[in-house]
Amino acid sequence: MVSAAPSRAPAPRIIDGRAIAARLIQTVAAEVHDHAAACGVAPGLAVVLVGEDPASLVYVRRKIAETRRAGMRSIEHRLTAATSEAELLALIDALNGDPGVNGILVQLPLPAHIDAGKVLDAIDPMKDVDGFHPVNVGRLSTGTGGLIPCTPLGCMMLLDTVIDDFRGLNAVVIGKSNIVGKPVALLLLERECTVTVTHILTRGLAGIVRGADILVAAAGSPGLVRGDWVKPGAVVIDVGINRIEAAGGKHRLVGDVAYEEMAHAGAITPVPGGVGPMTIACLLANTARAARNQQDGR
Ligand code: NAD
Repeated sequence: MVSAAPSRAPAPRIIDGRAIAARLIQTVAAEVHDHAAACGVAPGLAVVLVGEDPASLVYVRRKIAETRRAGMRSIEHRLTAATSEAELLALIDALNGDPGVNGILVQLPLPAHIDAGKVLDAIDPMKDVDGFHPVNVGRLSTGTGGLIPCTPLGCMMLLDTVIDDFRGLNAVVIGKSNIVGKPVALLLLERECTVTVTHILTRGLAGIVRGADILVAAAGSPGLVRGDWVKPGAVVIDVGINRIEAAGGKHRLVGDVAYEEMAHAGAITPVPGGVGPMTIACLLANTARAARNQQDGR
C-alpha cells in the first residue's frame, strides 16, 4: 500500500492519468507498427455514431483523432437520428464481415427508437472493443480472457502503478453500472481483493467506504465522497465526471470525490486528468489486441 511520508504534512500521490495514458498509447503505436509490417495493413477501428448528440460528437471526434495518432485506420459511419434499428443492424453485420475492420464501436446513447442491447449483442465479440457483448461480459466474470471494458481496464492500469500486491485488500466500488461499477468489481475480485459493490440504495455508505484500502468511485455524484470517509493511505480512483457551475457563469469538471479533502489518502486520481485519458488509451489497446487475436485466429 502507499503510505504518506511521516515527517511532513501528508499529501497523496497523484496518479497522473494523462502521462500513463500517453505511455500506453506509445506502446500501442509500436504494436500497430509491427502489426502493419507483418500484415501489410494497420488495425482498423470502425466508429458508428447515430444522431447529433453534442457530447457524443465530441467523444467520437476525440476517439477518431487518437486512433489515427496511434497509426490505426479509423473507419467512420455517421448516421442520421432517423436511422432505423434494422439499418443499423445491417451495418453492424457488414462490419462484422469486413476483414478490414478489427474493432467496432457504437457510440452510446443511441436514439430512443433503437434497442441498444440488441445492437451491442449483434457485434462480433472478437471485434467488441468496448467489451459490452455478453460473451465478453461472461469471459470477464469467469476470468477467461475476452475484451475488457475500457474504463474499468484503465482503472486497473492506474491502480497497478501504485499497488504491487492486491491480494486480500478491501476494495469498495461505488456504482454498479454495466460499463464501470460491475466490471471493475470483477477485475478487483480477479486480483483477489475483498470487494464490496455499493449503489444509490446502499445503507451506511460512509462506514463501508471507511474500510476500503482501494476505493473506486463511479456514481456520477459530485463530491459524494468526503474526506472523513477515506482511511489514511487508501488509494482512491475517481471515475466520476461531473460538470458543475463555477464562478462567472462558467463550468468546470469535478469527480465524485471531494478532492481537496483527500490530503491523507495514499494516492488519488485527479478529475480531469485521471481515469478519463485512460479510457481512450484502453480503447486503442483493445483494438490492437482484437487485431492480434484475429490475426492469430483466436
Ligand atoms: P450510471 O448512472 O450508469 O451508474 C451510476 C451508479 O452509481 C449506479 O449504480 C447508482 O446506483 C450509483 N450511485 C449514484 N449516486 C449514488 C450515491 N449518491 N451513492 C451511492 N451510489 C450512487 O453511471 P456510469 O455510466 O457508471 O458512470 C458513473 C460516473 O462515471 C459518471 O460521472 C460518468 O460520467 C463517469 N464515467 C467516466 C468515464 C471516464 O472515462 N472517466 C467513463 C464512464 C463513466
